[in-house]
Parts: sequence; C-alpha cells; structure tokens
Amino acid sequence: MAEPILKVTNLKKHYPVRKGLLNRQVATRYVVDGVDIQINPGETVALVGESGCGKTVLLRVLLGIEEATEGEICYYGKDITKLGRQERKEMRKKVQMIFQDSMSALHPRFTIMESLAEPLLLNGMKDRTQIEKIVVEMLEKVGLDAGYRFRNPESLSGGQRQRVIIARALVERPELILADEPISALDVSLQAQVLNLLMDLQEEFKLSMLFVAHDLAVVRQIADYILIMYAGHILEAAPGREIYANACHPYTQVLLESAPSISKGVRGEAFHLNLKIGDAPDPMNPPSGCVFHTRCVYADEGCRRRVPKERKVSDGHYVACDKYEEIGRNVKAGQRGEQ
Ligand code: SF4
Repeated sequence: MAEPILKVTNLKKHYPVRKGLLNRQVATRYVVDGVDIQINPGETVALVGESGCGKTVLLRVLLGIEEATEGEICYYGKDITKLGRQERKEMRKKVQMIFQDSMSALHPRFTIMESLAEPLLLNGMKDRTQIEKIVVEMLEKVGLDAGYRFRNPESLSGGQRQRVIIARALVERPELILADEPISALDVSLQAQVLNLLMDLQEEFKLSMLFVAHDLAVVRQIADYILIMYAGHILEAAPGREIYANACHPYTQVLLESAPSISKGVRGEAFHLNLKIGDAPDPMNPPSGCVFHTRCVYADEGCRRRVPKERKVSDGHYVACDKYEEIGRNVKAGQRGEQ
C-alpha cells in the first residue's frame, strides 16, 4: 500500500490560560487532545463536528501556523514538527488551504491577478509573463474567464470569490488541500456547483484533501473516509458509506439526525433519538471519562469515570464508546417496536 500523504499521531494543542501581574498559568484550554488522522494519496478525508470542537485549530496546526503541543505530523513519512524553516517553507507549497470566508481571505485592494500571483512571487518566481499565464490557466480551471484577473474581490459574487480562493490554492500545484468549510458560506444552490468543481479538480490534479465541515450532509458526496470530532477528540472514524449506513457513536447519530437530507432514507427510517441538547464542553474544563457523557442519554456512572477505549467495529471503522454494541441492539429493538 502507498505511503500516506499525511499521518497525524496523537496530536495535541493546549493553550495555557494566564492571569495576574506575574502572568501565572491558572488553567489550560485543551482544544485538540490526541487526534489521529491518515490521508492516503488521492483520498478525501472529511473531519466533521460542531463549531468550537477544535477543527479550525487543528487545521492551523497542520498548516504550521501554530505549533503542536504534542504529537507527530508526518508528510510522506517526514515529521514536519521537526523540520527547519526552509524545509517547512518547501512543504507549505505542497499543502494549501481553502478558507471558508472568501472575502477576508482575499486582500480587498488587490486585483484577482495580484492575489493569485502573490504566492508565486513569494516563492521566488520572477517571470511576469509566466505568472500571468499560470493565473489565467487557474482561473479557467475554476470556471472564470481571463478577464476576472483585472477585477477586485468586492465586484465578485460569493460563489465567484470562492472559485478564486480555490484557484489561489492551486497555483503552486499542491498535493494536499486543507479545506476549512469551503462551501458553508455559500447559498445552497451554489454549494453543489463548488463541491462538483472541487471533485473535478481533485481528479485532474490528483489531489488529496482534508475537508472540514459541520454537517454530514455536505461531505456525503465527497468523503472517502470520515472522522467525527467532538471536544478535541475523534469519537468515530469510518469509511464514508459505513458512517451513513452504520453510525455507532451516539454523537454521530445526532449529527446524522440533524442533517435532514440524510436522516431519512439511508437507514430506511429516521433515528428519532432522545438526545440531550446542550452546549459543547468548555475546553478549559473538559468532562471526566467519556467527553460526550454530559450530552449522552446512554451515559452511566462508568462513562463518567472511564475514558472509553477505541473499539474496532469492522475494517477501518473505529468508535470511542464502551456501550456502542448495547446501544445498537436497543436502537434496533426500538425500531422493531420491542419492549
Ligand atoms: Fe455515551 Fe457512555 Fe458511549 Fe460515551 S461511552 S458515548 S457517554 S454511552
């Protein structure tokens, strides 16, 4: 099997909370707390979870914008947390980000030409004719004609700006794209178009992708593998089709139920789970035992005390819930109308 393009092991990002004149550390925010990710060449892995679960911080650490507190980030087998400045710079060319908010990701006074040329100039390309050729080619790849290079971001629609952001991520011919909720700011009518564009470009450029989303409906079409994140932890990991057909973690089931286009029809009927609604845990004060126990209706004393083991459900399918088999039996019995 080919070597993974990205392998993240036990990644942690903790922030000290300091107070007082002496700037003493009084607490810690455990934002990312032991995450494993593997992305094989050409694969799309989706990272799904609510706002505030640590997804964006995780991306910033993967991109080298922030230092990891602990853990390994290996790109083709090389741990990038141990690379020197120059090697990191080289690596950054191969890993690009697509941002959610296209307006703030583009300099308002720059023309599209200037925005797309910037990464090439920063990496030492000097030939203006060559740069312009690459910019025009990339604009065409994302469905915008060459004339768009003379415009500024304000004169574009949200969908056009997002296409520019995608073109900008591609100008350096990356191998891995980190996409931070790339379609969530768009109208529903545009989301499918941009998603299809991303899938076409992925095939054409042989890209691997980490696609971050808060909604399982969005990633159904695109994800080969799905990671469910909650309070800085991965609670379930499985091939895409397996998550929709056999979600085992109570939190994944909540996410499926809250994505109306999915909750009905995939399993034949909706889950109709009676789940506690509430806020995600405070990263400064994470729950003991299972991080999901404060919102899980199946939680018992053991869940409050013990951190659940990672359990293998089937090939490539793992769940961090000690009671998943019992819950599965109860859900099935409930669906059959048994007492
Ligand atoms: Fe719920 Fe307990 Fe499973 Fe955690 S371990 S998801 S609290 S049943």
